[in-house]
Amino acid sequence: MQSNILDWIENTSKFMPDNIAICDEKSSLTYCDYRKKSQAIAREIIKVKKEKTSSDRKFPVAVYMEKGLEVLVSFIGIAYSGCFYSPIDVEMPEARVNKVLEILKPQIVITTKKLEKHFGDFNYQGSYIIYEEVYSEEVDEELVSEAVQQIIDTDLLYVLFTSGSTGIPKGVSITHRSVIDYIDWVTDTFSITENDKFGNQAPFYFDNSVLDIYSCLKTGATLYIIPKKLFFQPVPLLKYIKENMINTIFWVPSALSVISKLKAFRNVDLTATLKRVLFCGEVMPNKQLNIWRKFLPDVVYANLYGPTEITDACTYYIVNRSFSDDEPLPIGIPMKNTEVFVLNDQDQLVNNNEIGELCVRGTSLSMGYYNNSEKTREVFVQNPLNKAVPEIIYRTGDLVKYNEYGEIIYISRKDFQIKHLGHRIELGEIETAVSSLEEVTLCCCLYNESKQKIVLFIDADITLEQLKEKIEKLVPEYMIPGKVIYLENMPVNANGKIDRVKLRELL
Ligand code: AMP
Repeated sequence: MQSNILDWIENTSKFMPDNIAICDEKSSLTYCDYRKKSQAIAREIIKVKKEKTSSDRKFPVAVYMEKGLEVLVSFIGIAYSGCFYSPIDVEMPEARVNKVLEILKPQIVITTKKLEKHFGDFNYQGSYIIYEEVYSEEVDEELVSEAVQQIIDTDLLYVLFTSGSTGIPKGVSITHRSVIDYIDWVTDTFSITENDKFGNQAPFYFDNSVLDIYSCLKTGATLYIIPKKLFFQPVPLLKYIKENMINTIFWVPSALSVISKLKAFRNVDLTATLKRVLFCGEVMPNKQLNIWRKFLPDVVYANLYGPTEITDACTYYIVNRSFSDDEPLPIGIPMKNTEVFVLNDQDQLVNNNEIGELCVRGTSLSMGYYNNSEKTREVFVQNPLNKAVPEIIYRTGDLVKYNEYGEIIYISRKDFQIKHLGHRIELGEIETAVSSLEEVTLCCCLYNESKQKIVLFIDADITLEQLKEKIEKLVPEYMIPGKVIYLENMPVNANGKIDRVKLRELL
């Protein structure tokens, strides 16, 4: 039985050594070199491990690099060493990086010469591995293979950080087994082979990238890391897809919608190129999907649904019928080896088309939030339908219902989590950051869905310019409110809490 994801790269590098594994803006890498380079990284990590007196042999390694093939080499290198990786976005503000480091406590960071100095500004005392200084000629295969033999499938492979409502990011911890389970499903369901070419959009700190990275690693397909700037230029983006003969994409709906809104297909014909268009991460409006379907009718379209906590996705719907622009697109049915069920407020299964919370059980579940047992206990709970043995389910916080075909329809969130341009954001994290400013008396954040804007209501003695400058230092760019409304008297409800309903009227 496969006990780690490394079997995949061992196979692909052995049977398809010259296949191109990854292509980015600057260079490309064969499967043979992918293995060599990642093993060289592993050897450096193992060297550091041996110098440490601590008995902890499976610790977190942070990756702090610009997006590129080096990041993936580092991920796989970390896995080869028996440790687990956690990418840190280079655009994340210092205050937030420090929060992540405080939770993760990485013992090693892999970075580049250019970024090492930058990382030195953070609260970090561990070791450094500088990517350019690691040479693949010096790989000691035996050393690496010894480390691999000690990996079991319930060991962590990665920790991805998501927004946390109290202002503390949550590190979702995922095991090798969960990724194996998920990727086996992906490659079987969509018949992925070594001849496929993936066009990656998702940042590597976002869970959608797991599908791209590991579907290729397993099958020997090629992963194109599409330059970020192209996502603001629909026509050049489609040309890039065509020139590189990319036949499979798995993007957030916001990225797909940029293309359909501008009808960029009129300029570039992808009928002979694209085969699969998969999406996940937020609602896919049928209005936009219908444009895609009109221009590219033979493509397989699939709506995948799921939070980071269940290894990217747990339900799917392969689009097989027509929808009007205002109909919701189902999130479908559970993936293989996963059970999803819908509970009402009394923790009972819903009847007919009653709305309830989507809950998940199965191998895909995260082990919980890294170093945060309190938050873990809130959502990874005992299955209320199973009184006989301990069994953990994940409560997604997503409200759903079944349609007449037995497919699940996504309705909304139960809480203040939003999806803004594909990014998962807890409005509470922005509120906590803004409240921490001394000039701010009260604040509240709401999301204007129709205008796709985060709106900040604020009672504060600070100019808009100063406020923006300060917020930028606390939260990532995508969390910065698009509109700020100053209020001298924040409306409150009967309990004395900020009245969000009244504020919504001001949006
Ligand atoms: P993330 O952990 O960033 O993947 O975000 C997970 C959340 O995104 C889910 O809990 C949903 O609220 C939302 N989401 C993910 N996929 C879909 C989808 N296909 N349709 C609607 N919402 C989605």
